[in-house]
Amino acid sequence: KVRVRFAPSPTGPLHIGGVRTALFNYLFAKKHGGDFILRIEDTDQNRYVEGAEAYIIEALNWLNIPFDEGVGKEKNYGPYRQSERKDLYSQYADQLLTSGHAYYAFDTSEALDQHRKEHEENGKTFIYNWHNRLKLTNSLALSEAEVQQKLQAGEEYVIRFKSPQDETLILQDLIRGEMQIDTNVLDDKVLFKSDGMPTYHLANIVDDHLMEITHVIRGEEWLPSLALHVLLYRAFGWESPQFAHLPLIMKPVGKGKLSKRDGDKMGFPVFPLEWKTDSGDVFSGYREDGYLPEAVVNMLAFLGWNPGTEQEIFSLDELVQSFELSRVNKSGAKFDPDKTKWFQAHYLQEMDEGVLVAQFKSLLKKKGIATTVDVDKIVSLLKERATFVQDLWTDGSFFFETPTDYDEKASKKAWKDGTSEIMKTVISLMKETEDFSAANISDKIKGWITSNEMGFGSVMMPLRLALVGEMKGPDVFEIASLLGKDESILRIENAIS
Ligand code: GLU
Repeated sequence: KVRVRFAPSPTGPLHIGGVRTALFNYLFAKKHGGDFILRIEDTDQNRYVEGAEAYIIEALNWLNIPFDEGVGKEKNYGPYRQSERKDLYSQYADQLLTSGHAYYAFDTSEALDQHRKEHEENGKTFIYNWHNRLKLTNSLALSEAEVQQKLQAGEEYVIRFKSPQDETLILQDLIRGEMQIDTNVLDDKVLFKSDGMPTYHLANIVDDHLMEITHVIRGEEWLPSLALHVLLYRAFGWESPQFAHLPLIMKPVGKGKLSKRDGDKMGFPVFPLEWKTDSGDVFSGYREDGYLPEAVVNMLAFLGWNPGTEQEIFSLDELVQSFELSRVNKSGAKFDPDKTKWFQAHYLQEMDEGVLVAQFKSLLKKKGIATTVDVDKIVSLLKERATFVQDLWTDGSFFFETPTDYDEKASKKAWKDGTSEIMKTVISLMKETEDFSAANISDKIKGWITSNEMGFGSVMMPLRLALVGEMKGPDVFEIASLLGKDESILRIENAIS
């Protein structure tokens, strides 16, 4: 059975890249009838951020890609927070020590800094591996007695992986295919520290094994760790899961990886939900900016994947059906905020109109606006041009608020010498219109314009200006009808005086 995991470290909010990883794991799991697991990788207490775990879970729920198993949904493989699995890892470090795949290292951080400095001065980079491990302070270089003495004296140590020498390792990736790596370039990564905590590498491999993960789908930034991970599986004698590394997400313009600052600078969200930092910075979230989760999911799916057809609109179910790791690109995926808006506009149009009305009503309520007019009707008039629910307000606030000033340029154009007289006639025509429907008002006023051989603009433009305050909005008779006779007449009188 397919089992995949999303394994974020709770160091802050999920950004687009993280959510994309979660989504692709979800799609792959569902496509193959498998399980999608959430594991929280919180072994690095220094980088732990309060609230990040709850944020991650809320974000997945908002996007409708909930996990099947994980924190709060315990199944047979828990606990799902690495901090709660702490006691488990040391035996695996010991196993590697015993089998000779790992060793104790006692080098202080000052000593390591010094080595780095010296190498740098000679134009070299210091790598802790086969090349110099025998010249350093570790259990491969020291006698057994010396090692025991250091351990007994409680000296700080780390356990390092002993990377093999002179080997060409063949790595397989479901997206990138076969890669070769010379093991001599690998360093002896730290697996375990004397404070009793494993590093990411050890905990990640042990947990993927114990949780019976079949496919590891994660961001390209983890590709450099693949060799070590494959070597760890081999050292343990465990079957390795299959790997797929997703392409980086690039800035919409220019070069380089997308960062949270890009979004902030250029005015688009990079987080699913809003995030406030301790220092008071607020990063905007898709949810708070008014995006629909369907739009965000559809956008995310295309960050590195394509169906190989012209189809662009995909529901979550359709994505599950169509998703193939083999159709994920190797090269970086350019993030396109405009395309995200395009998806959003599409899903807003698709939205159930009753739900849209309810959302608009709650927005009006938040603004303290009394809804004396027919909101359903307003929504159906304005919806077509809206991308977000809040656009209904931007485009239609005049339905709720009598204009107090008028667009200057439009006034000059629309309001001429005889306009006040014309508008007075419009008022009396309106008064005569008993059933104040758009069609009736239109018949009345247009009939009068035609029989007097007037220009349409000389009536319609000032009328719109009087009702709306500027030259925008849907059909002017629809507006008048919705506002009602009294309010329409009041607005025209205001404009005349
Ligand atoms: N904890 C790692 C992260 O934050 C997980 C990487 C992996 O999926 O192996 O991205």
